[in-house]
Parts: sequence; structure tokens; C-alpha cells
Amino acid sequence: MSNQQNNDEIGPVEVNILLTLIRLNGKCLQKDLWKMAGTNSKVGIPALNKLIRMGLVTRRKVNEKVYEIKLTRKGLREARKLEAKASIIPEVDLNLLATIPCFYCPYISSCGVGHENSPETCELLGNWLYNLIKLRSTLGQENAT
Ligand code: SF4
Repeated sequence: MSNQQNNDEIGPVEVNILLTLIRLNGKCLQKDLWKMAGTNSKVGIPALNKLIRMGLVTRRKVNEKVYEIKLTRKGLREARKLEAKASIIPEVDLNLLATIPCFYCPYISSCGVGHENSPETCELLGNWLYNLIKLRSTLGQENAT
């Protein structure tokens, strides 16, 4: 696979931004987007720039420091596809996805299996999974009673 293809692949942060925008009727101020998507500008801006390059979102200057981010038609189609994929997996809760620590992690661009920061050894991700399993077993017990 070429580097260009890699650069144009939609990763978890881009997916999160697209799903957040579709939840917000397709547009949002950039300054609000990070909070709504459960990320931060350091991780979010490169992802947003990639989505703009791919023609999936636009950024419009509203005033000196305020930008509006909007899904394009192509972005809306892509976001709907992603939303449909998420909804066919009943366990996937979009609010739960927004809490995945990787979305707001400053190490996401260097994280990978075998790297210094890795999902295999990450305490934050481990704690998130542990809490998810605990929550699911609690809900399972409540449903059984
Ligand atoms: S696995 Fe851990 S270090 Fe890697 S991106 Fe996720 S939270 Fe960050």
C-alpha cells in the first residue's frame, strides 16, 4: 500500500469526528468539536486536516478566531455509512466509543504494537477495558434479576 493510500485512510479519530458531526446535524464550531468528540486540538487538528484534504469536511472562517466545520455531501454519505456500520453492532454505543482513551491521547500518532506506547501495554486502555467489562457484567447481572 502506498503512503498516499495510508494518508487517506480514515482512522479512529477521523471516524469519531465524522460521527460527532452527523450527531450535530452536520456542522459545529471547531472550538466545540474537540469537547463534543471527546478529543483535543492536538489530536483533532491533524485528523480534521486529513478530512478536509479528503473532501469530507470544510472549514469556514467565521471571525478571527472562530471556524465552522461542516460535513460536505461526500462527508455526509461517509458519516451515514459509518453510522450504519456502528448500528448493526448492537453492543456499539456511540457515547461509549467517545470515551475510548485513544481519541484524546497525545501519543496516538506514535502508538502501535511494539512501540514505546502500545495498546498491549497501555494502562489507560487497560483500565478502560477493565471498566467496560465490569460495567457489562454488572448490567448482565441486573438483566438476569
Ligand atoms: S493505546 Fe494508550 S498510548 Fe496508545 S493511543 Fe490509546 S491511550 Fe494512547
